[in-house]
Amino acid sequence: MDKVILITGSNKGIGFEIARQCGKSGLHVIISGRDESRLKGALIQLKKEDIDADSLVMDVSSPESIRKAAEIYSRKNQKIDVLINNAGIVVKGDRSLLQNDEDLLEKTIKTNSYGPLNVIRYFLRFIQSPGRIIMISSTGGQLSREVGGWSPAYCVSKTFLNAISLHLANELRSKNISVNAVSPGWVRTSMGGTFAPRSIEKGAETPVWLAIEAPQKLTGKFFADKTEIPW
Ligand code: NDP
Repeated sequence: MDKVILITGSNKGIGFEIARQCGKSGLHVIISGRDESRLKGALIQLKKEDIDADSLVMDVSSPESIRKAAEIYSRKNQKIDVLINNAGIVVKGDRSLLQNDEDLLEKTIKTNSYGPLNVIRYFLRFIQSPGRIIMISSTGGQLSREVGGWSPAYCVSKTFLNAISLHLANELRSKNISVNAVSPGWVRTSMGGTFAPRSIEKGAETPVWLAIEAPQKLTGKFFADKTEIPW
C-alpha cells in the first residue's frame, strides 16, 4: 500500500497545499478539519486532481473530538507513515499578553499547542516505525531572535509547540519516529493575509520535503526553507 499521510487543518491554506503536493507524489492523503462542508469540497478538489485521498472530521482543540476521530480511523485498519500537525489559529485581537481578553491565551494554546500533543497522543498507535511527525510552527515561536511585536499569544503557543516537539523527539527516538518543527514563512492564506510575500506552494515546500525526502534520522530540529534554524 502507498504511504499514508494525515494532515490536521487541511481543508484549506497551507495544510491543503501540503495534501495536494504529497498526493501528487503518490501518498495516500487524509485531510482533516472542523468545517465538514469545506472538508468535503477539499476532498472533491483533490480527487479531481486524481489524488488518492480521504477525510476525517477532527477539532484539535477538543480531546473528545480527537478521540472520536482516532476511533473512526481505527476502523480503517490503516497505518500512518507521516503525521503533520498543521491546524493552527490566531485569535482576533491578540495584541498584548496583559491587555488581551483573559481567555485568549488559553484558547490559542488549546488549539496550537495541546492540539498537536493530543493528536499525537491518540494517533500514535497508528504511526509506523520508521515514521515521521511534523509540527507546523512559526518563527514567531523562536526564542533565539528578538521576541515581541506581534500576536504574542500566538507566538507563545508556538514556543510551547517547539518545546513539545523537542521533548517528543526525545521520547519517540527509540520507536524510530522523528519529530521536527517547521516554519513555513509568511504565507498568503486566511491567516497570513493578502500582503504576505509567500505563495501557498512555497509555504508547503519544506513540510512536504520533511514528509517525503528529508533523511529519516533528522529529529528534534527546527527548519525553514529546508535548512535547520535555531529554536
Ligand atoms: P488557515 O487559517 O488558512 O488554515 C487553518 C487550517 O486549520 C484550516 O484548515 C482550519 O480548518 C484548521 N483549523 C483551525 N482550527 C482548527 C481546529 N481547532 N481543529 C482542526 N482544524 C483547525 O491557516 P494557514 O494555512 O495559514 O496556517 C497553517 C499553519 O501554518 C498554522 O499552524 C499556522 O500557525 C502556521 N503558520 C502560518 C503562517 C502564515 O503566514 N500563513 C506563518 C507561520 C506559521 P477548520 O476551520 O475547518 O477547522
